Amino acid sequence: MFEDIIGQKSIKKFFKTAVKNNRLSQAYLFYGPEGTGKEAVAFEIAKSLNCKGEDNKPCNQCISCIKVNKMEHPDVDYIIPVFSKSSDEEIYLKKREKIQNPYKKVMFKGNTSISIDTIRNLKNSSIFKPFEGKKRVAIISKAEKMTLEAANSVLKLLEEPPKDLLFILTATDLGLIIPTVKSRCTGIKFPPLSKEEIRDTLVKNFKISEQEAEIISNISGGSLSKASEYLQEGIEEKKEFAEKLIEIIFLKNSKIYLDFAEELVNKRNLEFVKDVLTIINLWVRDAIYYKINNASKSDIKSEINDNANVNQLAVSLPYEHLELINSEIEKSIDLID
Ligand SMILES: [Zn+2]
Repeated sequence: MFEDIIGQKSIKKFFKTAVKNNRLSQAYLFYGPEGTGKEAVAFEIAKSLNCKGEDNKPCNQCISCIKVNKMEHPDVDYIIPVFSKSSDEEIYLKKREKIQNPYKKVMFKGNTSISIDTIRNLKNSSIFKPFEGKKRVAIISKAEKMTLEAANSVLKLLEEPPKDLLFILTATDLGLIIPTVKSRCTGIKFPPLSKEEIRDTLVKNFKISEQEAEIISNISGGSLSKASEYLQEGIEEKKEFAEKLIEIIFLKNSKIYLDFAEELVNKRNLEFVKDVLTIINLWVRDAIYYKINNASKSDIKSEINDNANVNQLAVSLPYEHLELINSEIEKSIDLID
C-alpha cells in the first residue's frame, strides 16, 4: 500500500494500520496545499478497502482495483468541482486523468463548484449496501467548492452516516469549509512535500538533470503539481532573468539596474519575480556553501560545482556580501508573500 505515494510518511503509516485493523473513522478531511498527495492517498484507501487480492492491497490487478482505476466502480464515488457547462464525458475523462496521475491539477475552463444535485445523487445511492465491494467510499475533492446548499446536504449525511460509507473530503483552503462539516470529520493535515522529495521524484520520473530539478523543487513550494507545471512551461525564461540580474549587479551601474528591475516588475507578475529571486537565492546559498567549505583551499574555482552562476558569485563576492544578498532577497520574497 502507498508504494507510489511521495513522502507523507506518518500519514501512510497511520492509514496502513487503520485499514489493516479496520479502524477507520466515518469521515476524514484531508487538507493541505495542492500537489501534496491528498487524492493519491484517498484513492489508495478506496482501492485497498475493496480490493479482492490476497495480500498487499491494493493489488491494482483484481476486477475491483481495475474498476476504481477506470472510475467505474459502483461503490466508489469521486466528486470533483466542475464547470456548470461541462459535459458528462468531459467530467468523466478529468476524473480518470486524476486517478491516473493524482498529483496533476484538474482544470476546467470557467468557474467550478460542487452542486447540490451531485450531493443528492450521492445521498440517493448511499442508502444501498455496497454493490460489489466491501465498503462504499465517497471522495469529495476540493470540498471548499461545495455550494452552501451542497455543504449542508453533506452535513446531514455526516450527521446520520449511512452504514458502510466512508467519507474522504479534501480541501486546499480549510478556512472555506463550514465549521459544522469540519467538526464532523477527522482532520488529516498534508504538509508540503520536502524539496528533496520533489527533487528526487523529478529526477526519477521525468529524467531531468539534478540542477534543473534543484531549481524547480525550490520554487514549487512543496507541491508536486506545481513542480510539474514548471516542468511543462519550462524555467528557462526565469533562469535567463536571474542570470541577467546577476550580471547587472556586477556592472555596478544603478541606472541599468533600476531600469531592469522596473522592466521585471512591470512586465511580469509578482509570482514570476518571486521565482526569479528564489533562483538567484539558490545560487547565492550555493556560493556561500562552497565558500565556507573551500575557504581553506587556495584555488576555489576548481572546487566549485559546474554551475557558472554559482562560480561567478563565489569567486567575485566576499562571504559577507553574499550573506547580505541572501538576507535581502529573503526579505523581498517575504514581502511578495
Ligand atoms: Zn485489487
